[in-house]
Amino acid sequence: MPELPEVEALAVFLRERASGRVIARAEAASFAVLKTFDPPLSALSGRVIGEIARRGKFLDLSCSGGSGPDQLHLVMHLARAGWLRWRDDIPDKPARPGKSPLAFRLVLDDGSGFDLTEAGTQKRLAVYLVRDPADVPGVASLGPEPLADDFTVEALAAILAGRRTQIKGVLRDQHIIAGIGNAYSDEVLNVARMSPFKLASSFTPDEVAVLHAAIVSTLREAVERSAGLAAADLKGEKKTGLRVHGKAGQPCPTCGDTIREVSFADSALQYCPTCQTGGKPLADRRLSRLLKLGRRRRWRRR
Ligand SMILES: [Zn+2]
Repeated sequence: MPELPEVEALAVFLRERASGRVIARAEAASFAVLKTFDPPLSALSGRVIGEIARRGKFLDLSCSGGSGPDQLHLVMHLARAGWLRWRDDIPDKPARPGKSPLAFRLVLDDGSGFDLTEAGTQKRLAVYLVRDPADVPGVASLGPEPLADDFTVEALAAILAGRRTQIKGVLRDQHIIAGIGNAYSDEVLNVARMSPFKLASSFTPDEVAVLHAAIVSTLREAVERSAGLAAADLKGEKKTGLRVHGKAGQPCPTCGDTIREVSFADSALQYCPTCQTGGKPLADRRLSRLLKLGRRRRWRRR
């Protein structure tokens, strides 16, 4: 899933290619992808793309001119399996719903533009056309931007205080901090040398400072690595740049211990036991539940 650094890089990429350009048309390949109905997508035709912003993991294209309200915002969320593909020459044929991964298409007046695609069967990619980005519920409820100046150690301390939830979940929660997902929360916690299960409310002032530094440095380095890359190269860069996320079984880049994994119903986290949990592997709840079930069954059979 694209997170803050990748979405930031996509925003930079689109600024270079699409800012100041005129939209010919926008097409949603399915009803499900477009979450708003007023104004219609046809209201984009003839408008000029202005500022392109990142808000958490959302991309926000301001589009002005044309008839109707002065400014419209095309807000896009790529979800877990979505991606943006730039095309210098978009086919004339309209996007057709069906098995293709195409979810949304924006065509500029010179025939270039981009496709939003989504792999897999779970379709979560979302596009909104609104007058104000705050009309998008996921944008209105975003927590603070971790790379903004006001995201200080004190601000993070206030976020963590009294929260009796695991830090991994806190970092991923878009209402609490914007832009960090499953991958970069694993990375941040590895850099901070902290257990993903550590309770937010248990952080000492020193630990808050360590976590803050890890959040800012991890995201900033990832943003720098992806800056200037074409949309097509971002995914590969994300994968090679990661320390522990998605790397179960491989050596930790800091200490060489084997990176381990805890699986959940629809995701998994990775961590280094030596760096993060005092050398003790965390219980993989799904695995231990399966083992327990197996034991109980065996016991009943006796
Ligand atoms: Zn390690």
